[in-house]
Amino acid sequence: MDLLEESIVPEDARAAKQEAREFAAEHIEPNAADYYESGEYPWEILEKGMEEGLVAQTISEEYGGRGLSLQEMLAMAEELYKADAGIALTLQLAGFGTDILEEHGSEEQKEEYLRPVAENEQISGLGVSEPETGSDLAGMQTTAEKDGDEWVLNGEKYWVGNGVEGDWLTIYAKTGDDPDNRYGNYSLFIVPTDAPGYEAEHIPEKICFRASKQAHITLDNCRIPEDHLIGVEGAGFYMVAEFFNHGRTIVAGHGLGLAAAAIEESSVFVHDREAFGRTVDQFQAVQHDLAEMRMEFESARSLTWRAAEKVEQNNNAGYWAALAKTVATEAATACAERGMQLHGGRSVLEENRISRVYRDARVPVIYEGANPIQRNLIYRQAPR
Ligand SMILES: Cc1cc2nc3c(=O)[nH]c(=O)nc-3n(C[C@H](O)[C@H](O)[C@H](O)COP(=O)(O)OP(=O)(O)OC[C@H]3O[C@@H](n4cnc5c(N)ncnc54)[C@H](O)[C@@H]3O)c2cc1C
Repeated sequence: MDLLEESIVPEDARAAKQEAREFAAEHIEPNAADYYESGEYPWEILEKGMEEGLVAQTISEEYGGRGLSLQEMLAMAEELYKADAGIALTLQLAGFGTDILEEHGSEEQKEEYLRPVAENEQISGLGVSEPETGSDLAGMQTTAEKDGDEWVLNGEKYWVGNGVEGDWLTIYAKTGDDPDNRYGNYSLFIVPTDAPGYEAEHIPEKICFRASKQAHITLDNCRIPEDHLIGVEGAGFYMVAEFFNHGRTIVAGHGLGLAAAAIEESSVFVHDREAFGRTVDQFQAVQHDLAEMRMEFESARSLTWRAAEKVEQNNNAGYWAALAKTVATEAATACAERGMQLHGGRSVLEENRISRVYRDARVPVIYEGANPIQRNLIYRQAPR
């Protein structure tokens, strides 16, 4: 069964897809259950991914990366998240947010901070969410104030991938207080994790995505040089929103990978499991469940690849990214739910992959903008 068959993938993204598939088969699948159980950060697999050119490679060749396209990243996401979402997220987050620096940063910033990430000497991450605010990008409370030739940051960030492991992060902070210009009050900064006043610890253990680690960051008079501002002061909201158009299209790929894993696992199970003197797949109700899973998966996949083209062309990108993210991540939760039912009592055994997929599927419907927020965006940005 090859649910992630390549015909829908543009030809120039198929080689990257194949690389990710081979990497997943060799390094992720055999280790997924162990990392899930231990909840450890998968350093070894991350390092292998770096050796094989799979980490932080959207960065252009000019700054030491491969310049992987959105389509290539999507094709890779489908494969990696099907193998294990937690490990896949760790591979992806090592360069999370660096697209913003490449697009808006100065030459000096790119040489000093972007290049080491592209060359896999450093790890980065993006800190937007806070303990009290996640969905409301214009409601974040962390502040950055100018003091002489430095910026001084105060506040907390939560859920930040690589807040502990990373070398530097892109941090979103409030630099203005204009109630009539809510979206113009934010800016982005390069914050080295060894800056004075920066503290980070892992958040409590999760029930899912266990091989990926998120941090609670405290910024207590955290001082960074003034040239660590990315782009223009006050443009942070718009830079993050633009970045999320790409990010959400790739999160659709997370959903497709998880949905494919649920279908694959359930199909094998019902063909082996017997009840009432026959294998379970012979019951029409079970066949209908499998048919529904295919319908959910194939519709989501078609939409996602159409959206990727629209986003790449910057053609109403916010609308298409939100559509793909919502439909594909909900295909994952729906397929995982059906898959659990088809596994009967064995569905709840930790050792069974379906239980891992079921728990992991809860996350892509939340991160990079919870799906109710996506529905707001779809409604507002739908062509009239
Ligand atoms: C595994 C994981 C990794 C993450 N990695 C990162 C990271 O690297 N960097 C980072 O900055 N963040 C990260 N996040 C945070 C993530 O982006 C936020 O959790 C998400 O944006 C939702 O914010 P929240 O959890 O504060 O939910 P809240 O904003 O508190 O919302 C709770 C719920 O209320 C509902 N809701 C809220 N507002 C509305 C509305 N306007 N309309 C309708 N319904 C609404 C939704 O159902 C929503 O799910 C990560 C999260 C997870 C789980």
